[in-house]
Amino acid sequence: MSASQATPAKLDLKRDEKLEILWTDGTRSVYTVAYLRSMCPCAACKQIRQDQQAQKSRLNILPGNYAKPLSVVHAELVGNYALRIDWSDDHGSGIYSFEYLRSISPGES
Ligand SMILES: [Zn+2]
Repeated sequence: MSASQATPAKLDLKRDEKLEILWTDGTRSVYTVAYLRSMCPCAACKQIRQDQQAQKSRLNILPGNYAKPLSVVHAELVGNYALRIDWSDDHGSGIYSFEYLRSISPGES
């Protein structure tokens, strides 16, 4: 991954809807907040995803299955390499590096 691929030219966050990133290489990534929350990079959420993957063969678990509609309470840049997001479900330890965000981009246009 080159530096320009993991550098946002423009960030656009709609707190109860989606995050849009325009990368400096011209690619645009759109993440729904539910998807971003389900991909939280903190250790606890990573563990949950691993457990879910382990169970997937026998249980059909939907990703991002949360009782309440989710929104972003607060988001801030960490240095110039990452985005820290506080969620409406009181979770807020996830630091999404731009490299990570680029790697989980759900579709490129
Ligand atoms: Zn987390």
